[in-house]
Amino acid sequence: MLKIENINVFYGAIHAIKDISIEVNEGEIVTLIGANGAGKSTTLRTISGLLKPKTGKITFEGKDIAGIPAQAIVKTGISQVPEGRRVFANMTVMENLELGAYIRSDKSGIAEDMNSVFERFPRLLERKSQLAGTLSGGEQQMLAMGRALMSRPRLLLLDEPSMGLAPLLVKEIFTIVQEINRTGTTVLLVEQNANMALSIANKAYVLETGRITLSGDAKELAASEDVRKAYLGG
Ligand code: ATP
Repeated sequence: MLKIENINVFYGAIHAIKDISIEVNEGEIVTLIGANGAGKSTTLRTISGLLKPKTGKITFEGKDIAGIPAQAIVKTGISQVPEGRRVFANMTVMENLELGAYIRSDKSGIAEDMNSVFERFPRLLERKSQLAGTLSGGEQQMLAMGRALMSRPRLLLLDEPSMGLAPLLVKEIFTIVQEINRTGTTVLLVEQNANMALSIANKAYVLETGRITLSGDAKELAASEDVRKAYLGG
């Protein structure tokens, strides 16, 4: 479904992504794990069109998407939940969700999807007229996910959904990610919480200072001595 081949991404003179290749098949949850500054967010931002790779190829469902504008990428069926949620604080929950559907014009489809977001996240329904900035961290994460789902993506990019959340909420968010996947959305999940990410993913890639150092079946990686020592606390 998504194929990244040997991309290199720079911030000015900083070589942030070095010759990375990643493959995501339809229906999978694939996770990208690694320490702070490894290049996880940069990889996601490159897929979603916010950054342009200097070299390499990105194809989505056979279509070359490297370097095309972010809005056009959303139209191809990819949606990103950014790191730190970035909800529009001075807009209501509902207005935030409506913005997620900005590329669409099918009113009844949009209303249908708004309902399914509220079914998936009952807490957002209770707070639909509340300003997003007054929501708790977990609720804002739910809103950011709901907003991304409003474009009906086939591939959902999630950037550290567990960041700053209490363990119980992290569990809840990960359960929701699994449900979203089960109902037909392919997921590429970036996480520092390697334990949780590996527990729900099919496949994983380990990123270190801009390079992929390990990849494979998530369960096998979770059991590997090297991964346990470096990322799972021994
Ligand atoms: P984190 O979990 O902290 O977000 P990450 O794995 O997502 O880490 P990136 O944010 O992708 O890492 O950063 C990769 C490298 O690129 C880092 O060395 C970082 O300092 C650098 N970098 C990120 N954003 C910029 C920027 N806007 N300008 C210059 N360098 C940047």
